[in-house]
Amino acid sequence: MAGERVLVADDESRIVELCLQLLSEQGYQAQGVTSGQEAIARLEAEPFDLLVVDIKMPDVDGLMVLRRALALDPNLTTVVITGYATMGRVIDALNSGARGFLLKPFGMEEFDAAIEAALAQRQKEQERLLLRAQLPILVISQALMTEADVAELSRRLLEVVARQMDAAKALLFLVDVSTDELYVAATLGLPEESVADARVSGAERIFAQTLQAQQVLVWDAKTRSGLGTDLLPLAAKTDIDRWVLIPLSTGKKDIGILSLSHASGRGRPVILSDSDLNLLSIMGRQIAIALENTRMYAMEQRGRTELARALEQQQELDRLKNQFIQNVSHELRTPLAMILGYAELLASGDLGQVKAEQQAPLDIIVQRSYLLRDLIENITAILENEIREPIREPVHLPDLVQAALTDFEVLASQAGLALNGRVGAEVPDVLGDAEHLRRVVDNLIGNAIKFTPAGGMVDVRLGRANGDVMLEVTDTGIGVAAEHQGRIFERFYQVDGTTRRTHGGCGLGLALVREIIGRHGGSVTLKSAPGQGSTFVVLLPAAPASAGPNKGKP
Ligand code: ADP
Repeated sequence: MAGERVLVADDESRIVELCLQLLSEQGYQAQGVTSGQEAIARLEAEPFDLLVVDIKMPDVDGLMVLRRALALDPNLTTVVITGYATMGRVIDALNSGARGFLLKPFGMEEFDAAIEAALAQRQKEQERLLLRAQLPILVISQALMTEADVAELSRRLLEVVARQMDAAKALLFLVDVSTDELYVAATLGLPEESVADARVSGAERIFAQTLQAQQVLVWDAKTRSGLGTDLLPLAAKTDIDRWVLIPLSTGKKDIGILSLSHASGRGRPVILSDSDLNLLSIMGRQIAIALENTRMYAMEQRGRTELARALEQQQELDRLKNQFIQNVSHELRTPLAMILGYAELLASGDLGQVKAEQQAPLDIIVQRSYLLRDLIENITAILENEIREPIREPVHLPDLVQAALTDFEVLASQAGLALNGRVGAEVPDVLGDAEHLRRVVDNLIGNAIKFTPAGGMVDVRLGRANGDVMLEVTDTGIGVAAEHQGRIFERFYQVDGTTRRTHGGCGLGLALVREIIGRHGGSVTLKSAPGQGSTFVVLLPAAPASAGPNKGKP
């Protein structure tokens, strides 16, 4: 592997030149200096992978250069050059962290071998470091899997990173997009109250600056690293004037910034090795993803809980509504049946001769009571249809339709209408709820009578159509215009509200017809035109031949 940055420091320029030549032949990026001072200045200015340094130099001793270099970057690989005179110091150099040494005078092969061995060792160390990176990433992934709370996750992640980086103090900021601020989500090694509500404005700008620094940015209260004064209040609050800022970004979204302060512990300034930087940037991405996922999960959970609560409330409301209507219709039905019974008795004269002027009001009482009864029946049936498990027993419709025709005879003749019934002989049973099907027939015949002026005709036919049972109710009445034909099957829809005053009803009958027929697996259609009468056609699937004893009598 070549391309590594190598610094050669030797006071003998001849040796420096020779080394540089050999190194560039091998493909390294080599630089040379001829004094210890220069070497230190170069090391402070830019990063190197390998330092080759002569132990004996007149100004700053090679060992000092070595120590300074390792303080700046503990991962730097170093090889010392020594003569016989300074052999004893090689031990010191190795103890201080040098990875190899060259004894002057050395040949080309010796030089190449020493450089190669030192760099190979470096490679191994880097691999070990990568392994080291796997552990915190694993911990982060575990945190991601098990933690559903953003605050708790932030705290745990902060701990992992701080421990890994040997940071004494740490802060995790999250971005508040609505205000473009960074707010503190978790702290470590800092008195909570000192920073708990610290907010740093200009989140987007700080982010851009931090990202510009490629991996991490070292912010210093003095240099400010392009961040201006944004972090100064925080520095004052925390009493720390140097932070390592790691941008937390998923790649698509900026989540926050992690700041570490680990100056004092080791007595070295905040200088991070390449492997630290790599580790931090890998962890930054992982942390951002973990936080974002948790945030989204929390939001989704919240949404789900709210939805579930709303649904529960809705269900409870529905239950109460149904209960209420059922109670009311029951309470109405019973007294109404008595009113109707006595009114009929009175009107018929069975309870004694009715005076001529009493007859009409009594008839009105009877008629209106019927309307009221129908309405209550419809409401009850609609509710039952919604909440009751469908009954599926064989129903013999000819009996049911015949009974309805008989019941409506009086009403039709009172309305001056001819009511005709044609019930086919071979009509198969249908599977369903006899009571509900009776409401269908009653509503259709009732409407036909209601909406047909005197002198007209209502025809009820029951037969077969392609294996289905077909009920047709035709009248010669006012008809329904095309634009209303779809809507009259909606609950409470009436073509003309004024008809309610004349005919009664509240627009539930056809909705009920459609709902009941739908539940029986059938269909209802209308053929009509204004002034041309109407035909309602109901199709119901015939019951399978072996459907058992039937029930047709209403
Ligand atoms: P209601 O009869 O109580 O008003 P329906 O749901 O049974 O409620 O009918 C809805 C509307 O459809 C009626 O108000 C009426 O305008 C129209 N309609 C229903 N049947 C007929 C019919 N046979 N002829 C003309 N219009 C009808």
